[in-house]
Amino acid sequence: MAWDFRTDPEYQAQLDWVDTFVREEIEPLDLLFPDLQFHPLDDTRRAIIDPLKDEVRKRKMWATHLGPELGGQGYGQLKLALLNEILGRSQWASIVFGCQAPDTGNAEIIAHYGTPEQKERYLQPLLDGECFSCYSMTEPHAGADPTMFTTRAVKDGDEWVINGWKFFSSNAQTASFLIVMVVTDPDVSAYQGMSMFLVPTDTPGVKIERNIGLAGEPLGEGMHALIHYDDVRVPADALLGGEGQAFAIAQTRLGGGRIHHAMRTIGLAQKALDMMCERALSRSTQGSLLGDKQFVQGYIADSYAQLKQFRLFVLYTAWEIDEYNDYKRVRKDIATAKIVMPDVLHDIAWRAMQVHGALGVSNEMPFNGLIHGAAVMGLADGPTEVHKVTVARQLLREYKATDDLWPTEHLPKKLAAAKAKYAEYLEHEVGNL
Ligand SMILES: Cc1cc2nc3c(=O)[nH]c(=O)nc-3n(C[C@H](O)[C@H](O)[C@H](O)COP(=O)(O)OP(=O)(O)OC[C@H]3O[C@@H](n4cnc5c(N)ncnc54)[C@H](O)[C@@H]3O)c2cc1C
Repeated sequence: MAWDFRTDPEYQAQLDWVDTFVREEIEPLDLLFPDLQFHPLDDTRRAIIDPLKDEVRKRKMWATHLGPELGGQGYGQLKLALLNEILGRSQWASIVFGCQAPDTGNAEIIAHYGTPEQKERYLQPLLDGECFSCYSMTEPHAGADPTMFTTRAVKDGDEWVINGWKFFSSNAQTASFLIVMVVTDPDVSAYQGMSMFLVPTDTPGVKIERNIGLAGEPLGEGMHALIHYDDVRVPADALLGGEGQAFAIAQTRLGGGRIHHAMRTIGLAQKALDMMCERALSRSTQGSLLGDKQFVQGYIADSYAQLKQFRLFVLYTAWEIDEYNDYKRVRKDIATAKIVMPDVLHDIAWRAMQVHGALGVSNEMPFNGLIHGAAVMGLADGPTEVHKVTVARQLLREYKATDDLWPTEHLPKKLAAAKAKYAEYLEHEVGNL
């Protein structure tokens, strides 16, 4: 039977172990070391984190989506989805399991397009969990439309010289290297004239002008860098993939990244729903439990319905990626998951917050972070509006216009056709009357 919604018992046992491990061993780290996931480990954190990573490796759950040749299990995207929905509950969990964004996407494109030398230098340490990487694409004046990018690389002998500005380059301050998308040929269309370079962060001329934080973080602190590439010289072999291939590479990277965010978002939204239900059963007002009030029941039912639909769609999309091994073919569904994701997280987190009353909006509960996280999901890896355009365009390709004045489903036209089709019988019936 092709449609089967069960997880095989062996993998389910692994997931059950992960669930307990994340709750008991990793979630406490979110409180002890918030926002330090992408900082090199100091001695204290290494003493805690390294044994946890060892345990994950021992259980054969490290970077499971990668093939064995890259140190993973080759489990693919569907199994990763089932794993990520557990890991999504915690900020630290993806790091401990070797599948954190943006490094997974970056590793994926180096594995796909990198030379053996590039793989050895950049990919292996990344896969070993010993360094971080940064994807540097958005510019201060242009994000959603990459054809407007102006950061330029010019060939000079055996080297390329990069000049320009990049904005919101996540984790640049702690990354060992940057993957930078630049214009290499301004005379052709952006789709052929842009290339990707692998640039070690300590290359002279890579200047982090300032780090930008997300709402709630103090000014001047944060993980998203404004970078000035100021006469940055890199050798010819710093080019990732061929010259002019940046768009193709970006699609590979962002396709994977987007669906991975969606997988983790299931975990966050489930956590919000769990909190909502616990509160509904624990708090009474005006003579009955919150869970007995119809408004609150509506919040719970709407949240469950949204989450279940989203989860099934994400799992289905992950299955498609495994099945077709072609991000382009699955692009419409990845974009659809990306569109739905912020709303699902926002709506469920907002209802959960509301049900918690004043405590919900306080800094003693995590709802504000979840709601802001939903807003981030509507922007990172491309704004929702742009993905809606993608979905609509792709969907419209599956249809064709009618030549007729009246739509295909025009009832008088269809009735006339139906009568014509069965004219013989209809006449007979009339004759019998
Ligand atoms: C937390 C976070 C981390 C990020 N990390 C990285 C990173 O590591 N590397 C990196 O390169 N970038 C990163 N980004 C940047 C992200 O990719 C961009 O924010 C995104 O592509 C949108 O670009 P923009 O912010 O310049 O918005 P703009 O392009 O200015 O768009 C602004 C708004 O205009 C509207 N809009 C845009 N285009 C259309 C359209 N075609 N139709 C209708 N409406 C439209 C939308 O409402 C959109 O939100 C990150 C962003 C966030 C929030």
